[in-house]
Formats: sequence, C-alpha cells, structure tokens
Amino acid sequence: MAEKTIPYKIYLEESEMPKYWYNVRADMKTKPAPLLNPATHKPMTAEELSAVFCDELIKQELDNDTREYPIPQEILDFYKMYRPSPLVRAYCLEEKLQTPAKIYYKFEGNNTSGSHKLNSAIAQAYYAKKQGLRGVTTETGAGQWGTALSMACSYLGLDCKVYMVKVSYEQKPFRREVMRTYGASVTASPSMTTEVGKKILAEHPGTTGSLGCAISEAVEAAVAHPGYRYVLGSVLNQVVLHQSVIGLETKIALDKYGIKPDIIIGCAGGGSNLGGLISPFVGEKLRGEADYRILAVEPASCPSLTRGVFAYDFCDTGMVCPLAKMYTLGADFIPAPNHAGGLRYHGMSPVLSQLYHDGYMEAISVPQTRVFEAAQKFARVEGILPAPESSHAICAAIDEAMKCKETGEEKTIVFGLTGTGYFDMVAYEKFNDGKMDDYIPTDAELAASFEKLPKID
Ligand SMILES: *Cc1c(COP(=O)(O)O)cnc(C)c1O
Repeated sequence: MAEKTIPYKIYLEESEMPKYWYNVRADMKTKPAPLLNPATHKPMTAEELSAVFCDELIKQELDNDTREYPIPQEILDFYKMYRPSPLVRAYCLEEKLQTPAKIYYKFEGNNTSGSHKLNSAIAQAYYAKKQGLRGVTTETGAGQWGTALSMACSYLGLDCKVYMVKVSYEQKPFRREVMRTYGASVTASPSMTTEVGKKILAEHPGTTGSLGCAISEAVEAAVAHPGYRYVLGSVLNQVVLHQSVIGLETKIALDKYGIKPDIIIGCAGGGSNLGGLISPFVGEKLRGEADYRILAVEPASCPSLTRGVFAYDFCDTGMVCPLAKMYTLGADFIPAPNHAGGLRYHGMSPVLSQLYHDGYMEAISVPQTRVFEAAQKFARVEGILPAPESSHAICAAIDEAMKCKETGEEKTIVFGLTGTGYFDMVAYEKFNDGKMDDYIPTDAELAASFEKLPKID
C-alpha cells in the first residue's frame, strides 16, 4: 500500500488546534500522591497553598478528576503567536543513519524563550493576572523558564522577580539580559535579599547555588511581598497539564496522516515536557485503547528515575515548600560542577514518577559526552542547534533508530525537541575542545543523600 506523502513539517490549521488541556491524572488508576505539609505531614489544603500559589492554579494542582480543561481564549490567542509548533519528519537524519525507522520530532524552540516553557508560563501568568496580583516570583536554572515567564509577564503587565542560580547568572549573561529586556528583575541566588539566602550563604560561603536554593528564595520573596505569588516551571501537576498542548498537537498531527508511533521519547528534568508530550498517548494506554513504548531520558550525572528512590522529599533546599512523593536523589543533591547538560533538578514530577512506578514508562540515563555527540550529529543534518537538554532525547532516538537498522524493523519514533541551544555555547565549546568529561555519582554519594530524606510513614 502506498504511503501518503508526509510533509517535512506538519503544521496544524488554526481550526485544528487543541482547545483544551488534557489532565492525564483523570485516567490514572493510581493517582499521584498528594503534596504534604512539611510540618504536619498531612496533605496540603487549598487554603494552606494559597499563601504561595495562585488560586486557580491550586485548583488545577489538586484536581485529579477533571479530564479536560478548556484553554481560556486569551491564552489561545497568545499560543497563536508561536503555535502550532511543527512536527518534523527527520528525513535527513534517517538518511544519514541509513535506518528504516521513521523519525519525527516535535520542535518547541520556535519562540524567543527557546523552549516549551512558554506554554505554561503564559498560563500561570494569566491566572495570576486574573486574580488581581501585582506580580510573581520564580527561580531559574539554565534560564529558559525565567525567560519564558518574563515574556508572559510583560505581555500581561505583571511584575516578575527571578532568582537565577548564581553559576548560571555568571555564565549566561545574555540570558539574564533577555529577561531584563522583558522587564524582569534578576537576582543571583543565593542572595542576601532573603533570610534563606543569607542562611545558605552563611553555611556554604562561595556556593554557586542550585535550583533547590533558588526555589526557597523565590518562595520567601513571594510570601514577603503583598500581591505576589510564586510560580514554578516544571515538576508540578499543573505544569504537566499546561504542557499537554504539546502532546495534543502531536497526536492530532499524527492522526491526520494516519501515523501510529511505536516509541515516544523525551528528555526528563522535572518532567514537564515529557509529561505533556506523552499525556494523550498515556491516556490511551491507561484506558486500554492503544499501546506505545514510552522512554524518559535523563543525564547520568543527575539520574532521579533510574537511580533515585520513590519517596516523599523536599522540593527545595530551604525546606519551605510542601513535600512531594517522587523519584528523588535527595533535596541536597547537586550534580557535579562539570555537568553541562541541564536537567539538574533532584526530583521528578509526581505524575511521571507514579506512571514510571506503575510500569507505563521506561527510563534510561546517558552520559553527557554521548549527548553532545548526538547534538552535533543532529545539528549537522537537521539544521537546528538543539538545547543540551533536548539532546538527551535525540541521543536515545538515534540509538533506537540504529537498533531498527540492525533488525530491519520500520518503527516509528517520535521525540520531543524541547528547544534551541544558542545560550549553551560554553558547553558546546567544552565539547568541541574535547574538554568535556562524564561524572557519574557513586552509589555511596547517592546513599549519603538518601539518608537525609524526611522520614514519612
Ligand atoms: C527546562 C527544559 C527542559 C527540562 O524540563 P522538563 O520539565 O523536564 O521538561 C528540557 N528542555 C529544555 C529546552 C528546557 O528548557
């Protein structure tokens, strides 16, 4: 049977775009465990959360039952500026690899923030604005989330305070300037502007910071400033909900051409892009309507799914946030300083953690030199300079395509290309100079970190 000709890039018509977000929790038999109050170890109530988070977002966070959330018109209008994102057939990569596999990638780097994070940033800023707030606070590591949130806040006229991990603040001055161009104020974390920052600096003078520290500072700043709330760009259930727009668009585009993927691959840091990409596919799996292999790819230097434990842990270093049950390396875990590939958060989204625990998803880890080899190979044939984070998925997609070459199977592989790597040239430089190496934490290092997990029964 002749295959329909598949365009290089599949774009949806405006009328075909998703009008709702899909909440995969509604179809999960075992729901993700609730967030716990760190003092009482009881599930957090909406009221307790309201000091830190926006009301509508709390509702979404706690809602395990509503399957579909209509996307507000204002957010649909914003999405139209940069969505649909293209689903690209990687014909050139297939040719280069001489594989019978068919490879597709969903490219989320077509906006100034350079990543998928804008999909949730605009949603979170919208609900903050609707609540009549003055502004929001957040942390950023590599800088994509801070950039996305700055863009969303300037669009809606909200103030935006970003705590940026110090090492990144110093290494990525241009990221910082993009945020400032969009009107955000950017503080290197840990800083002397918060009590928790002062405490961390007193205990660890000269620290270059971590996401966990920056989260603690941003939460404190939100609580300290009237009219502010804290927002987070990954991990949380609400973020996976907003990012389902990636998976919904992918599914509509594939269905339009009668394509059924065999393997769906995504990189996993806090789990938001992967959670969003796989949501509608996992939904079918959970309802027994279809089957797919789903593969999470994480760095060997920060391997929360593949080497972490499934337990309640703190989301931040300062222990001010609720406890989440997730695959975690321990809230104190900081990847080795030579780790350049992003995806450095110690824990994984509770939704993805539960799906992984229940066997709906596989996970692998890859060392960073292999990730950059894959990035280079991809850039040279597909034309896009990928983010190091995204390149974890590229690496696994190439490996799967090479397996098809050995077996002669014509599998269809879909992966998430979450963003571009223009601000990661220091990492690329290290790789190009042959100065990049791999550090993989030892079992003893991880065991020491697990010892500090909170004891919850
Ligand atoms: C933040 C980011 C990621 C990782 O975050 P997830 O929440 O795991 O999706 C991956 N790729 C890019 C480009 C990012 O900016």
